[in-house]
Amino acid sequence: MTNFCLVCEIAVTPTTPSIKCGGFCKKYCHIKCLNIAESEVTAIIANKNTWICEKCSLSDRDHPVSAAVIEAIIAKQLDLLRNQLQQSMDDHFKRLNDRITTVENNVRIIQDEWSEFKNSHNNDLSGYSLNDVVSEIEDRKLRSHNVNLFNIPESSASAIAEKVTEDLKHVMKILTPLGTYPQLS
Ligand SMILES: [Zn+2]
Ligand SMILES: [Zn+2]
Repeated sequence: MTNFCLVCEIAVTPTTPSIKCGGFCKKYCHIKCLNIAESEVTAIIANKNTWICEKCSLSDRDHPVSAAVIEAIIAKQLDLLRNQLQQSMDDHFKRLNDRITTVENNVRIIQDEWSEFKNSHNNDLSGYSLNDVVSEIEDRKLRSHNVNLFNIPESSASAIAEKVTEDLKHVMKILTPLGTYPQLS
């Protein structure tokens, strides 16, 4: 049976030095037709190394990998991605949920303030603008930690600063027996 060179397709004979592909094609190739350096050919023959033609080295048939192995690799990668996605979604939903809870709480506070406001005006808000309502609600919030003191005589001073100083004197007279407070100048 005559073998033909896989490059030039001319018969390979004992007088034309050739090399056999160690890949799946098992075809021959003239050494002169090889596209590799002569020293490389010498080294392959001297070391009894297998030469594999270009076609075979580009083919997977030389390194068979079963479909099951590829499927397992893909499945593993998919699992990894699925877990990462799940984790990231869980984190997002948790944060979203926290924010919704905060918003719900704030809405409840506003509803309470609003009904308290309406009640204190007997549900008649005809003379109020939206700004009035908002500023009164804010004002109430500020005053919610205030302490009411009774029986403080009305100041007779005309200047605001003097009124404040006089009021403070009365306040200190009441508060001092209860404990030590920072001295007011
Ligand atoms: Zn050839
Ligand atoms: Zn080959």
